[in-house]
Amino acid sequence: MKVRDWVKNLVTYEAGKPIAHAAGEIGMTADEIVKLASNENSLGSSPLAVAALKENINTFYRYPDGSNYDLIGKLSDKYSVLPEQIAVGDGSDEIINLIYSAFCQKNDEAIMAFPSFAEYLLIGAVHRVNVLRVPLKEFKTDLDAVKNAINENTKVIFLNSPNNPTGTIIKHDELMEFMKNVPENILVVMDEAYYEYATGKPDFPETIDFIHSFDNFLILRTFSKAYGLAGLRIGYAIGDKEIIDAINHVRQPFNVNKAAQIAAFAALDDTEFLSKVRSMIESGMTYLKSEFKNMGIEYTESYANFLLINLKTDAENISDKLLKKGVIVRSMSGYGLKEFIRVTVGNETENKRFIASLKSVLNEE
Ligand SMILES: *Cc1c(COP(=O)(O)O)cnc(C)c1O
Repeated sequence: MKVRDWVKNLVTYEAGKPIAHAAGEIGMTADEIVKLASNENSLGSSPLAVAALKENINTFYRYPDGSNYDLIGKLSDKYSVLPEQIAVGDGSDEIINLIYSAFCQKNDEAIMAFPSFAEYLLIGAVHRVNVLRVPLKEFKTDLDAVKNAINENTKVIFLNSPNNPTGTIIKHDELMEFMKNVPENILVVMDEAYYEYATGKPDFPETIDFIHSFDNFLILRTFSKAYGLAGLRIGYAIGDKEIIDAINHVRQPFNVNKAAQIAAFAALDDTEFLSKVRSMIESGMTYLKSEFKNMGIEYTESYANFLLINLKTDAENISDKLLKKGVIVRSMSGYGLKEFIRVTVGNETENKRFIASLKSVLNEE
């Protein structure tokens, strides 16, 4: 048996330890751990989704609907697009993989901003696609530099707004200017995993309009973040029929499980939950920013549910010490930002625990 050499060399996504395990190692219980490392939702899952799951608990012996008929119908009403313009995936991670399958082959190139979502890079490597990383400029996606990086091998460009891990956005006019200059044969993917946090805020564009103007523009959204369904794995893409058709050609027939379909369908109606989530993030953000100001810690203006902060010291060391106090955050050293951490905005108790622990760790330095 021989594993292909390039497969052995692939970098795998570094998943955090299960909370109970991490807790055990520091002599705590899982309830005592504050996990602010993966931009999950501290309010839990949409209650309408949970109720729908309970109601359907005895239906899981059936295969899911491989066409995602109901969910796609509801999304198409919500965004006033045709059902043929929507594809659903096992999380947006799967859709990123499907995009590579459908649009790229070995030695093709993709472009992403850096730092941005690591999956564009890791999944690209599986497809043996060369992913160019264009550095952010003042923590924002540098669209001029992205445009200049385009060459004859470029097949896909991954944009992310709000950008993980900075929380910064791409504005309407910048995006319009960019799209007018990108050759039509290159697919531009706009990953809006944090859309529900950013929509309605000043300068955040409603990019649905772009799919009507550009056949090479695809939006990705997910139920993992604001709807609190990360563990069920479900996300979707909106774009031109031809792109959606290509994605459907390369996916497995039952790529989205039945529980995820049921939960997502119900969650879309849960406006009450979404507004609670948004107000928790807004007040948590205000609290954290004022604490950071008092502590002299710089942060980027974030449109999402996390903040990138500059500790001006070895961030890996600080995050290890926070972990020993039961607070898990994401050190950005793997992204080349050695002095930065990304912290998810949690609920009031979690945010206070994080600030108190950070203060005590920094004082010990
Ligand atoms: C969290 C996140 C996703 C979510 O992916 P799922 O597979 O839907 O959970 C996608 N893109 C970015 C930038 C993210 O931060």
